[in-house]
Amino acid sequence: MRIGVLSLQGDFAEHVQAFEELGVEVSAVKRPEAVLACDALVLPGGESTTIGKLCVRFGVGEAILDLARRGAPIWGTCAGMILLAREIEESDQWRLGLMDITVRRNAFGRQVESFEADLEIAGVPEGPLRTVFIRAPVITRIGPQVEVLASVEDKIVAAREGQYLATAFHPELTTDRRVEQFFLRMLEQSNG
Ligand code: GLN
Repeated sequence: MRIGVLSLQGDFAEHVQAFEELGVEVSAVKRPEAVLACDALVLPGGESTTIGKLCVRFGVGEAILDLARRGAPIWGTCAGMILLAREIEESDQWRLGLMDITVRRNAFGRQVESFEADLEIAGVPEGPLRTVFIRAPVITRIGPQVEVLASVEDKIVAAREGQYLATAFHPELTTDRRVEQFFLRMLEQSNG
């Protein structure tokens, strides 16, 4: 089982390292063939408009959509969550549109560009998780098949829809690997 981390831009190296710590096979991927060789894919944090443009330029977006059609689990963090969304408020930027959610970019405002919070996340056992938010988006609408996993105040910051996982925060920037383990369980389930 091989996890791919999309490595066009953003903090992909931290995601690779997080999965290496868990002893799973993981690689940084940026070409369509490399994406298609994965069993699951992580879309990192970074700048969603930049990652989107590079996805189009290098044909990687099509490869990710093919991978999704094969049923592979895909996890987007922060900018990656924006790329997974079907709708992005006040933006026509390119996106994969795989998840039936609407997101709002930079939703916590300029005054709080980044912050940390202890969050209970549905499906993540053993108590609250320390989460790091950096110019984070939030989910402002969910489709009927989407399960909310975590909220900050009244803002949805983690959700799952079948094979797709979206987190507005950055588990790869902490030492707690429980969200990575959650994603690995999604991969195990998808393989029956
Ligand atoms: N604000 C960024 C965007 O809209 C996301 C920030 C991040 O990934 N840390 O793409």
